[in-house]
Amino acid sequence: MNMQMPMPSFDPERLLRSNVYSLEPYAPIVPFEVLSEQLGRQIDDIVKLDANENPYGPSRGVHTALSEIDFLHIYPDPENRALCSALGDYTGIPSENIFAGSGADELLDLTMRLFIDPGDKIIDCPPTFGMYNFDASINAAETISVPRREDFSLDISAIETAVDEHSPKLLFLASPNNPDGSNLPGNDLSRLLELQLIVVVDEAYIEFAGLQHSWIDWVMQNPNLIVLRTFSKWAGLAGLRVGYGVFPSELMPHLWRIKQPYNVNVAATMAALASLQDKERQLDIVARIVRERGRLEGLLDEIRFLHRYPSGANFVLCRVKGRSARELQHTLEGEGILVRHFDKPRLRDHIRISVGLPKHTDALVAALMKLESH
Ligand SMILES: *Cc1c(COP(=O)(O)O)cnc(C)c1O
Repeated sequence: MNMQMPMPSFDPERLLRSNVYSLEPYAPIVPFEVLSEQLGRQIDDIVKLDANENPYGPSRGVHTALSEIDFLHIYPDPENRALCSALGDYTGIPSENIFAGSGADELLDLTMRLFIDPGDKIIDCPPTFGMYNFDASINAAETISVPRREDFSLDISAIETAVDEHSPKLLFLASPNNPDGSNLPGNDLSRLLELQLIVVVDEAYIEFAGLQHSWIDWVMQNPNLIVLRTFSKWAGLAGLRVGYGVFPSELMPHLWRIKQPYNVNVAATMAALASLQDKERQLDIVARIVRERGRLEGLLDEIRFLHRYPSGANFVLCRVKGRSARELQHTLEGEGILVRHFDKPRLRDHIRISVGLPKHTDALVAALMKLESH
């Protein structure tokens, strides 16, 4: 038989999982190098304030640790013992309740896989992080959206009503929330934990809010609370993909059963360990970013066409008044300054600005002031 001949009557799409058809088409983000080419600017001349990355990157200790890795030809420890133990020290949570993943993104997906049968429901509270809805649709779950109020606080009674009506299995909340930066208040969380569902609190930005705002300790008293975190933002390891979750003891054996054996690679593990070893220095960088956030906020308040929201994270959301936010984002891009615009109902007249280096703040504010005088 000639192996080059295609089988004429075979349609591979016919065998797809049925929910795959209804997924939104893949919309890749433009990689930094490509963008640099498109804008005709060197990477160093681009002010990248669109993805909440840490402009300082990881601490020196991470670079040293990565250059000294010895066993790249050996598979990583499937139980991630060294990392979970170091995370136990960092969080004060027993390491048996800590589970590492390839970014918080993997833990979101694993959490869905743990609970979702096709047709099950989850709740998200938009505007919020898009991955909750994305992972839900991949896992054939239906997302019930309970919008936040005008000031981005949660509508707790609307969530309670939605739980009564739809019996969702999971509720996803980010604290601080992306894109507005508000923290989840303890009295809201207490009320939500009384509901018959699992509450997943995503603390991707908690180091910028201050660890005293974390709900991680509550997991040990609440069998329906999961807290997720990441090294991407505070530790500057977004490119290496490493995050972790704290789960109630009852769930741990089930998580172990569904995990890919080598989900966190050796380089990511070493980098995370080095960040924790160098935690004082890394938290100093966080403090520097928080100070810069304060300076950025003060300067944005001077721009008449922006209304700024308070933020506990490394980004600031602004409503754009009297002009198009989409066009503003585009104009800034033309000057090599990238900010985030969301083409979503509640956010169409907003932009989200990540906190960068002081020189990034200066470039952004200069560009905004130039626009204001027009
Ligand atoms: C950036 C972000 C994450 C992603 O974390 P990774 O560890 O990089 O996958 C998770 N949640 C929120 C709310 C984020 O903004």
